[in-house]
Amino acid sequence: MQLIFDGHLDLAMQALVYERDQRLTVAEIRGRERADNPSERGRCTLSFDELRAARAGVVVSTIFIRCKPGVDPNRVILREDADYPCPTMAHANGQMQVSYYKLMEELGELRFITSKGELATHLELWEESDDPVKDKLPIGMIMMMEGADPIYRVDQTAGWYEQGLRCISLAHFGNSRFGCGTTTASEGDGPLTELGKELLVEMDRLGIVLDLSHLSDMSIAEATEIYQGPLIATHSNCRRIADTSRQMTDVQIKKVIDRGGVVGAVLCVSMIRGDFDRKMPHDVSIRELADHVVRVCDLAGNTDHVGFGTDMDGGFGADWIPTEVDTYRDLQKFAEVLSGRGFSDEDIAKFYHENWSRFWLKHLPG
Ligand SMILES: [Zn+2]
Repeated sequence: MQLIFDGHLDLAMQALVYERDQRLTVAEIRGRERADNPSERGRCTLSFDELRAARAGVVVSTIFIRCKPGVDPNRVILREDADYPCPTMAHANGQMQVSYYKLMEELGELRFITSKGELATHLELWEESDDPVKDKLPIGMIMMMEGADPIYRVDQTAGWYEQGLRCISLAHFGNSRFGCGTTTASEGDGPLTELGKELLVEMDRLGIVLDLSHLSDMSIAEATEIYQGPLIATHSNCRRIADTSRQMTDVQIKKVIDRGGVVGAVLCVSMIRGDFDRKMPHDVSIRELADHVVRVCDLAGNTDHVGFGTDMDGGFGADWIPTEVDTYRDLQKFAEVLSGRGFSDEDIAKFYHENWSRFWLKHLPG
């Protein structure tokens, strides 16, 4: 079984917005939710024990809460709605997610990874264990912010860093106070804001990694000029295969590769094949995900710059991932697919965990 390093999960959002107790099993969480709910309820794919059983020893997990000034304060409040009309509220909700992670660390479920040394020790712990569920190993977590909306003032970024924040993406879908995020369709582009440019300079100063996922083409072009540090795409597929603005162009992928970064392959089927009707059952196979992985490797000329960035349960569930995958542990099946595409055992280990491990062992502080 491969050790998995997942470049993108929204564990706190799933707990605090979807109200999922990640300490339960997948079957228990599914049992508490109605499968006919319009969102992906009843079809979760992961929990802490499921991640352990899948041998997911390290994940990058988000603080994810949005500020959308256009949100109607009079709307019916849906608890799964992560949009707040004012950045003060996004800030406080972001802090709530940090607080969730800290509590989960106290309970032995998670372990914050904030330095090279912590990551190296943590990887050894997982490599030595034959049964992470029985040993109740903590899941290593590098904390990132998906969309910078919780950063109220740029001079507070150092405070977030102190709390363990090591990576930021500037925008989620649509415009943010920092720049332009992609939309789900092919339109949607725009520049960075002045605040976004200031934040990039501060991220460079602090050594916070920039995640390009979700950022629009124009904003990526500007951001990669201003920001001089390492680039990653925690969860993006290839636009040449799935033609939506949410995926990365070959030129953007090459920018990540040139700065030694990694692109995380996403399990969401509309990011594997491109947009199609969500109400219809699909037949997307994990073999199609391999097309994206192979393309990144072709662009790099090696197998060093791609890994998982599954985003599983981050707005979609078991019905919107490839048909061979029901719960998180089924990701182990992908090794055989990669082998069929000519990947050696060494290449497969690089994809599952070594590429992300190498990146973070280099770019976390000493
Ligand atoms: Zn996302």
